[in-house]
Amino acid sequence: MMQHLRFEIRGLVQGVGFRPFVYKLAKKYHLRGVVFNTGDGVIVEVEGSSDELKLFSVALKRNPPSLARIDTIEIHEQEVKHFEGFEILESHHRAKTTSISPDIAVCDACLSEMKDLHNRRFGYYLTNCTECGPRYSIIETLPYDRDLTSMKSFKMCNHCQGEYDDPSNRRYHAQPISCHECGPVLSMFDRELNLIAQGRGVIEKAAQCLKNGEIVALKGIGGFHLLCDATNEQAVSTLRMRKKRPQKPFAVMFSSINQLSKYLCADEKESTWLISKERPIVLVKKRSGTDALLAQNVAPDIDTIGAMVAYTPIHHLLFDFFTSPLVATSANRSDEPIVRNIHELRDRLGGVVDTIVDFNRDIVNTVDDSILQVIQNRSSVLRLGRGYTPFTLKHTICTPLKILAVGGQQKNTIGLAFEDTLILSPHIGDLYSLEGMEYFERTVDTFKRFYDFSPDVIVCDKHPAYATVQWAKNQGVSVITVQHHYAHALACMAEFGLDSQVLAFCFDGTGYGDDGNIWGGEIFIADPTHCERIGHLKEFRLLGGEKAIKESKRVALALLFEMYSLAEIREFDLPFLAHFSHEEINSYYKIWEKRINSPLCSSMGRVFDAMASFCDILHQESYEGETGRRLEELYNPKIQESFDYTIENGIVNLSPMIRDFIRLLHAKEYARVATGFINTIVAIMEEFAGLYPDLPIVLSGGVFQNKTLLSLGVNRLKEKGRTVYFQEQTPINDGGIALGQLYYAHHHIRGTNGG
Ligand code: ZN
Ligand code: ZN
Ligand code: FE
Repeated sequence: MMQHLRFEIRGLVQGVGFRPFVYKLAKKYHLRGVVFNTGDGVIVEVEGSSDELKLFSVALKRNPPSLARIDTIEIHEQEVKHFEGFEILESHHRAKTTSISPDIAVCDACLSEMKDLHNRRFGYYLTNCTECGPRYSIIETLPYDRDLTSMKSFKMCNHCQGEYDDPSNRRYHAQPISCHECGPVLSMFDRELNLIAQGRGVIEKAAQCLKNGEIVALKGIGGFHLLCDATNEQAVSTLRMRKKRPQKPFAVMFSSINQLSKYLCADEKESTWLISKERPIVLVKKRSGTDALLAQNVAPDIDTIGAMVAYTPIHHLLFDFFTSPLVATSANRSDEPIVRNIHELRDRLGGVVDTIVDFNRDIVNTVDDSILQVIQNRSSVLRLGRGYTPFTLKHTICTPLKILAVGGQQKNTIGLAFEDTLILSPHIGDLYSLEGMEYFERTVDTFKRFYDFSPDVIVCDKHPAYATVQWAKNQGVSVITVQHHYAHALACMAEFGLDSQVLAFCFDGTGYGDDGNIWGGEIFIADPTHCERIGHLKEFRLLGGEKAIKESKRVALALLFEMYSLAEIREFDLPFLAHFSHEEINSYYKIWEKRINSPLCSSMGRVFDAMASFCDILHQESYEGETGRRLEELYNPKIQESFDYTIENGIVNLSPMIRDFIRLLHAKEYARVATGFINTIVAIMEEFAGLYPDLPIVLSGGVFQNKTLLSLGVNRLKEKGRTVYFQEQTPINDGGIALGQLYYAHHHIRGTNGG
């Protein structure tokens, strides 16, 4: 008997070859009907015998296309309509709640065509198919159709159109496809934007520039990269000088995992991430005892490299002509958003680049490379961007309202919640500049457009000076605030869907505390709607306030002021003290004594800073997170010792530790001090964990970007039989704040509205 079924499919089902997949399946089972995209997913209406419909339904769920993710399928039986055949219909424009596919690295099939002399896409630098290529970065709005992307102005040639229309073709309904004949064109410009060359030949010319030690700006998926030869110390130092970036490590792009393994030692898990279709930057250890060396100034004084493997067709073609790894850093002015067109490039980085390689397919939505590291075979995300965003989480409960979370002030991201869906934006970055704030607002607008979203509620941090907080309060919508470190804990709870109490260690740089002090070494008992601060580092005075946080030596000095008299400090023969003049120490002491611009602070991040200065490795931080990474270099796993500390009423006093290690500092035993310090922090975590033996444990906050601390902490707590969570898919640093805010509001609103 003939039956008619209607499948309503939600999830990541657009722009991933889902409709062709359904088409082929329907043909296979001799079914008739239609498939079409809507704003919230894909609808399939099929008719046939009930047996064949059953087989169809099973296959649909079991083997969706590799890039697809089905969240829900609803199946309804309807009246038979007697379709003639099976067809893919044009999109229906309706509510917009479907997932948007992230941008995916070029696939093997496309690559081999591109390298095949006899293929019409030989050397085609913007090739893609349903399995690969740009998505999020070129989409103006949903549904995902070519005329709503930046490919809309390129009319397909007959060849491409034929592929697009042929259900048996790999490019069937692949929206951004093109070829030499009909696609965007590659152009080379000088820094004044004078056209130098066009077409295929540009790539070989760019390689020549790189060989000459020049800085080349190359348009990628979500923005421009600045490239130079990663083995040419002079080229790297030119880039550092022009970009005014003296120390911060540069990411390096390799042509293949093979080339990478000559320079770095990626373990199995790291390699898997490196060549995954998302192609993130992965932090990987440098290889020692090899002839293949990167210039030492690529990542000065640290032994890991942010590595990635070529992921666009242009990268692959470039490596045909250029055989060394490339520095590939986001084209931006420090801490500003990534540049997305040649005009921004000229205005902001005209003095940095020698040559620009561009093509005339616009980047609609900028998206930075994602960054992660591997901790005990799991990923720990440091930056969420290309390949992963927009990031979607499904929750078991629904919210009746539309919620916008505006995140923190640094490493900002935003989030949306509606119904059972939580969405996290790509990394937006720091919001201290006008450009940063513009990018923030642009992203808010983009996401509102994508999801047809207008917030009923905005959730933000409590810090009165955060730009996002001020912005939130000016939107004429009700505002909910969440304490910064609680939001860190919540972000982790959101990722794992934790609904009941946890013991959370939230260690980071700074955040606004409920008592108006600067927090950052916080221990909570938390659930999605309540949070109790059961422990924290004993406060010390931050000399000069939040603006002084780059001076690690100043924090070290402040910690000594808490414990010793000025006369006693003068007796110490500690290297970091030599970085102050006699008068400076006197005047800081006065500032400390009179409490002038010296807010109280319980920040673990600042203690890490102080430790780097105590150990004489860094007295002034030149980029965020530098002290932690440098301190790790000193860590020696063979050293088991830890130092004394006290805990009184939950307040952790590290003075005994400092008293303990001052003698070691005098003996210049820095490895023992750095190692003992990290061991001490873990011991403190273990002690608190012991007080709450039944609670699962959450670790979150920027300090846990420290691989040594996170691995050791997770290890020790697991050895004691504890369940430990840290974010694997969302940023563990302030990039996760928006997610935590969403999770709170999602529960809070449900609570106050009774469902
Ligand atoms: Zn492909
Ligand atoms: Zn074409
Ligand atoms: Fe934070």
